[in-house]
Amino acid sequence: MTNKIGSRIICDMDWDRLGRQVSVLRVPQSRDDAGWGTVEIPIIVTKGGKGPTVLFTGGVHGDEYEGQIAISRLARTLDPKKLKGRAIMIPAVDLPAALAGRRLCPIDNRDLNRFFPGDPKGSFCQMLAHFIDGAILPLVDVSVDVHSGGHSMDSALSTNMHAVADKSVLKRTLALATAFGAPFNVVFWGVDEGATLTSSVERRGILSIGTELGGYGRVSVEGVRIAERGLRNVLKHLGMVAGTPDTGQRDGSAATRHMMVRDTAGYVFCPADGLFEPRHVSGQPVRQGEIAGQVHFVEDFTRKPVTLRYGASGTLWMAMGPGRCHKGDALAVVMKDYAGEK
Ligand code: CA
Repeated sequence: MTNKIGSRIICDMDWDRLGRQVSVLRVPQSRDDAGWGTVEIPIIVTKGGKGPTVLFTGGVHGDEYEGQIAISRLARTLDPKKLKGRAIMIPAVDLPAALAGRRLCPIDNRDLNRFFPGDPKGSFCQMLAHFIDGAILPLVDVSVDVHSGGHSMDSALSTNMHAVADKSVLKRTLALATAFGAPFNVVFWGVDEGATLTSSVERRGILSIGTELGGYGRVSVEGVRIAERGLRNVLKHLGMVAGTPDTGQRDGSAATRHMMVRDTAGYVFCPADGLFEPRHVSGQPVRQGEIAGQVHFVEDFTRKPVTLRYGASGTLWMAMGPGRCHKGDALAVVMKDYAGEK
């Protein structure tokens, strides 16, 4: 069976009905023990009166938990009678990865976020990406894709966005990120971005922010708090629920600090396979030339560790955890105060 976009994924959601609806994206998954087996990915649509459509996605990477928790809770509690517009919520987009606590989907061993806009005849992740791009994104005005660092990285609690060329879109995206109210917002000039959910969202002219709200494969207490508050703040900012966004920060400042990662000078890459000893945690200020960490070679204790230094001054956005590292991996990303178009 296929639908009008040629997808094999079935979803019986009535996108225009008022109230709260709970359904699934039913993805075919033929197995030895179930030839007609399917994977059921929960999707919740809450619709009130007239207003925009937001898409809240979590669990695009299964080992990033804050968004899965925050969106599940919002999906249970958002009252359609107090909502203007429509919220489409998918708490765990790559459900098999979420259930396995993994970044990659255990069915096809792929990163869902590297296969947009997908392929209706492709693997599990390719089918899923194609359905989201072709059947869901055309309904959407604003997208918030909630990520964190996964097992390998930890992030300063932040939203992020691309430095889009259209000035009016850039301005509205900065305003959206400001309303979300994370401690930091990172504007970046992306690397490895052509096949992400965000890239599909942007190609369709949809306002888009992502988040990085923790990592190291655990649930960040503060990350969950910022995620929940941020999603509610976005609804307030768009006039979909009553109230004004609460953007007060723990350090006493009133709002998000806007940052940027403009080029690869902010990245520290791993020069050799080994064991990485970091010297800072995410959110700490660092200086250009300062020691970022050392790569150790425990299989040969006589070999001197390689010392790595930061190529830029700023605040540590992403920090790789202490552990095995491989040549070419990004071990740290430094962000600077935003100095681009406003
Ligand atoms: Ca991620």
